Amino acid sequence: MADGILISGGTVVDGTGAAARPGEAVLLRGGRIVALGAAALAQAAPDETRIDATGKTVMPGLIDAHTHLTFGEPTGNDELFHHRTEAYSSMLSAYNARKVLRAGVTSVLDADCLWNIGCELRDAIESGIVEGPRMRAGGQALMTMLGGTAGRMIADEGTTAYATVVKGRDMMVNEIRRQIKYGVDWIKIMVTGLIPSMKGPEVKVWNFDELRTVCDTAHDLNTKVVAHCRNSASTRDAARAGVDLIYHASYMDDEALEAVLEAGSALCPTFTLLGNLADYGAKVGSSPELLEVFRAEIAVTAKQMAKAHAAGVPFLTGSETGFAVTPVGEWHARELEMFVEYMDFSPMDAIVAATRNGAFAMRMEGEVGTLEEGRIADVLVVDGDPLADVTILQDKTAIAEVIKDGKRIDLTTPIPEQKLRSSDQVRFLASCPLTRSLAFTEEQLEKLSHV
Ligand SMILES: [Zn+2]
Repeated sequence: MADGILISGGTVVDGTGAAARPGEAVLLRGGRIVALGAAALAQAAPDETRIDATGKTVMPGLIDAHTHLTFGEPTGNDELFHHRTEAYSSMLSAYNARKVLRAGVTSVLDADCLWNIGCELRDAIESGIVEGPRMRAGGQALMTMLGGTAGRMIADEGTTAYATVVKGRDMMVNEIRRQIKYGVDWIKIMVTGLIPSMKGPEVKVWNFDELRTVCDTAHDLNTKVVAHCRNSASTRDAARAGVDLIYHASYMDDEALEAVLEAGSALCPTFTLLGNLADYGAKVGSSPELLEVFRAEIAVTAKQMAKAHAAGVPFLTGSETGFAVTPVGEWHARELEMFVEYMDFSPMDAIVAATRNGAFAMRMEGEVGTLEEGRIADVLVVDGDPLADVTILQDKTAIAEVIKDGKRIDLTTPIPEQKLRSSDQVRFLASCPLTRSLAFTEEQLEKLSHV
C-alpha cells in the first residue's frame, strides 16, 4: 500500500502518560495508526514511505483547546468588534489555519469566532480545500446585557461580529438553537465581564438560572458548553450549572474547586496570554504595576490549579492564539511550559494535557490525542526530547514532521507574507505601547510598525 508511512528509530511518547519507549516503530496507513513496535516493522511494505526518527521523539499532534483563528490578531477590542469584515476574515482565517498546522497543532477548539466563520473554516478544512488542523468550532459568544471583556463596547442588544447579546430565557434558548442549526460543536458563553464604572476586575454577569438554561438547552441537543470565567464565583456557578469546559477559572477558591470536582468539568487555564504580557510587557513599555497584576493572577490561580490537578480534574492546554500578543502559529506550545513552570505539572503530564486530554475538546476521545493502534494518524516528530525540556515544542525548527490524517504536511514551502490591511487596524490603539505586538521577532515588530 503506497500511502503507508513507517516512522522508525524514534522514542515514542504516546500521549497516554505511559513511559517513553525508545526505538519504537509506528506504522501509519489509511489515515490511521495501524501498528506499533515489532508489528509495525513486520507489517511495513517495501514501497511505503520511511521516516528515520533516530534521536527524535515521536508523539501525537498537539491539541490547542483555546484558539481564535478568525480574529486577525487585533491590538484591542475596538478593532475586534468594529473593524472586521466577514469575507476578509474568512480568507484570513484560512491563511491562519496553515500556520497553526505547521506549528505542530493538528487539532484545535475554536470556541468562539467572528460571525459563523469557525464552522465554515472547519468544513473547508474537512473538505480539503483549506489546509489546517482538524477543528471543532463555536459561533458568536453569548453575552448578557452586561457584556464581556469589552465592557460598554458591547451594544445593548443585537449582534456584533463577535458577540450576541441574549436577553431572557427565550432569547438564550433560541440563539443556542440557531447556532446549532448552523453547525456549532460548542456554545461559548462569557460568564464574567468588565463593568467600566465599577473599575476593578471582571465580575460575574450571568445568574445561575441563566447558566442552567444555557447548559440544558445545549445538552438536550448534544452540544457542549464552554465558559469564560475570570473569577471564582463564575467558575463555581458554571460548574454547578453543568458547563463542560471552563476557560481561565481565575482565582478559583476551594468552594469553586469543589464544584468543579463534583461536576466533572474540565479546566483550560490559558495562561499563555497572561504569561506573554508578564514576560514581554516591559519591553513594550507596560508599567511595572501592570506587570505585577498579570503575574499575581498567574501565581494565585496556578496554586489552585496544582491542587485541582492533584485532585484529578482533567486539564487541557489552550493558548488564546489570535490576538496581537498571541500571534497565530507562534505560541501554541507555550501553555505546556506554563503548566510545568507554574502548576507543578511534570513535562509528561503537560504533554498528556496537550494531547490525550485535548480529545475532549474535539469530542473525539479515543480517536485522536494518543499514539495507539487504531487511532487517527496525527503525529509529530520532534528533534529533541520534550520530556527533558518541554519548551522544545515551541521551536519550529525542532518540528521535523507534522502528519495529519496520515499525510505529511509540507513544512518548507514558505507561507506568503501577510501585509496588514489598513482598514482592519485602529491607529490610536495600535500606537499605544501596551497593545503593540510583543515583537517576538523583528518581522512581527515590523508588521505592527506599519500601522
Ligand atoms: Zn479566548
